[in-house]
Amino acid sequence: MIKINENFLELQESYLFSTIAKKVADFQSKNPDKKIIKLGIGDVTRPIVPAVVKAMKKAVEEQGKAETFRGYGPAEQCYDFLKEKIAKFDYKKRGVEVLPDEIFVSDGAKCDCGNIGDIFGVDNVVAITDPVYPVYLDTNVMAGRAGKYKAETGTYENMIYMPATAENGFVPSFPEKVPDMIYLCLPNNPTGTTLTKAQLKMWVDYAKKNKAIILFDAAYEAFISEESVPHTIYEIEGAKEVAIEFRSFSKTAGFTGIRCAYTVVPKTLKGYTKSGEEVSIYNLWNRRRATKFNGVSYPVQRAAEAVYSEEGQKQIKENIQYYMENAKMIKEGLQAAGYTVFGGVNAPYIWLKVPDGMTSWEFFDKLLAEANVVGTPGVGFGPSGEGYFRLTAFGTRENTLEAIERIKNRV
Ligand SMILES: *Cc1c(COP(=O)(O)O)cnc(C)c1O
Repeated sequence: MIKINENFLELQESYLFSTIAKKVADFQSKNPDKKIIKLGIGDVTRPIVPAVVKAMKKAVEEQGKAETFRGYGPAEQCYDFLKEKIAKFDYKKRGVEVLPDEIFVSDGAKCDCGNIGDIFGVDNVVAITDPVYPVYLDTNVMAGRAGKYKAETGTYENMIYMPATAENGFVPSFPEKVPDMIYLCLPNNPTGTTLTKAQLKMWVDYAKKNKAIILFDAAYEAFISEESVPHTIYEIEGAKEVAIEFRSFSKTAGFTGIRCAYTVVPKTLKGYTKSGEEVSIYNLWNRRRATKFNGVSYPVQRAAEAVYSEEGQKQIKENIQYYMENAKMIKEGLQAAGYTVFGGVNAPYIWLKVPDGMTSWEFFDKLLAEANVVGTPGVGFGPSGEGYFRLTAFGTRENTLEAIERIKNRV
């Protein structure tokens, strides 16, 4: 008899975005003449920039000729040409020393955030901010670290939830129970929050003191506009002893359909056996990768490399600026309409407070029915997201402007 992994049965029924998709499809079938504007799911709309397209095409041509054909690449990390660019442009230029060998290129930060759990014990206590990108929670449910779901509170018994709400300025405080694994997403999806270096230093020191690990998701690093905001956790002294960093080309360079990301696992990171012996986390991850992964395709690695070229940088920055102008318009438009709005400065997300007395799903339904605009109910990101709502700046300019006008005039 084939036994299943029963942890999967603890997963909550439907993934946030499939519920939204169902509601939208239902509304559209009943109102076929209505033009729905989607500012819900965090996907980009601008096409891949020309410098990247050119590099990718060239790489495909190379694969078609015997002299330049390449088969399996280095599975553990990636080609030198890419890891050297990443080390230089994303780290060295910011005064941070990350070795090219500490960079593991993959087909997505989502997979990396999930897969990293393979190398950690299932009895680790996990802390997530609340609200949060749902992947950290669900992958820990699958692994068995979250324990049972409690419907009354909408939480899992073994998870630590660190509320981030307007009351604490979206800055979570250290939990009462000490965690072993701490997920931080900065700039934050969904709230748009960032931490200062001093605040982040407190987390690094906390992790060090408790021999915990920080899993730092910096998928929105490219959207940071304020000088004082750290771009990588390794800007913080001591972080190379306690933190793994996830980055992605998805939002930075529109790679959501091309697929490329990377994870930095410093060689100085240590984990522990039950009896307290030190083990290199780097070695475990390297081994896991070599066994379960055969690397990112060569054309995609060349495409990612082109992001760091002079033209590539210029072109992706134009797109980022385009999205951040959308963010500013949404933010100002909603403020003018009387909403309380957060985020939108260092992240392409606007986090708004729903009108008093409404739940975030009620606001979702109202916005869909009255303005035909789709956003994401805050509660979908965790219980403390109740009463909030997320809009993304990834739409086209035209749709974004129209969505704001509709919200102002109809809702
Ligand atoms: C979009 C996103 C990612 C990127 O995932 P990919 O798999 O690289 O596309 C990672 N983390 C967060 C918080 C995100 O919102």
